Amino acid sequence: MKTSKFGKITFIHGPDRGRYPGCNSIFIDDGEGAVIDPGSSERFLLKIRDKARFLFNSHYHEDHTAFNHLFPEALLYVHREESCCYRSIRNVLDYYGLLGSEFEGLWRDILIERFHYRERTPDGEFLDGDVFIVGGTRMEVIHTPGHSPGHSSFWFPGEKVMFLGDLDMTPFGPWYGDRVSDIDQTIDSVRKILEVPAEIFLSGHESEIIEKEDIFPQAEAYLDIIEKREGKILDYLAEPRGLDEIVEQWFIYRKPREPRHFFLFGERALTGKHLERLVRNGKIRFENGKYARQA
Ligand SMILES: [Zn+2]
Repeated sequence: MKTSKFGKITFIHGPDRGRYPGCNSIFIDDGEGAVIDPGSSERFLLKIRDKARFLFNSHYHEDHTAFNHLFPEALLYVHREESCCYRSIRNVLDYYGLLGSEFEGLWRDILIERFHYRERTPDGEFLDGDVFIVGGTRMEVIHTPGHSPGHSSFWFPGEKVMFLGDLDMTPFGPWYGDRVSDIDQTIDSVRKILEVPAEIFLSGHESEIIEKEDIFPQAEAYLDIIEKREGKILDYLAEPRGLDEIVEQWFIYRKPREPRHFFLFGERALTGKHLERLVRNGKIRFENGKYARQA
């Protein structure tokens, strides 16, 4: 298992560069210990679990919480907006927009069996600007919503290191397909992290370690993907189209992909967010079950 050290902060590279269904994790070892987003390596996490007094999650998604259950004794801190998702799996399914959908039962099983979902009451809830001291290491919460409502990044001013969670700067682009996700908040959050004077940015997936001079072009490319997705949808709406027709174009994932409970669900969810935004901004209208560009 590959790890990278930044002072007392260890970046744990998940399998396959932290690609979903895994992620990259953080371990702070400074007299006291803390783990952020234990979705990387079960073997590595088992080795450090006795040192972890605190457990933090950047957000409630299954890939970032998959090994929370290895840390039953640690104090679990999560953002207040997502605390409900830890107390009940029903709230996870609701936040995802899966309640009542054809994939609800399947996803419930996947969350429990593959991602070890266990109901758990967090020991504490954090908000933007909250500060935690782990041993001698200072960590500040930067609320970066949009991907999910409580999504947070973690800033270590002593080391000048920032953990981005799922503002991951991947070539796929940002995810904002939860029922409770928001595109405009995602954009604002990417801009917000660029104001942090970090030397090193650590991504929850794939991009891994991003140096200061690379974060600006990567962030611009990441934001540009949002505009490209929306541009393709808008072009297609020169003729009135129904939601199913639009989803079948695979503007987000670019080609039909399996399994459907993951990719079709995602395609529909992200497309839906763009359609909502286009209607809100007056660029398209919704009439007789079809979306069409405004003349
Ligand atoms: Zn996520």
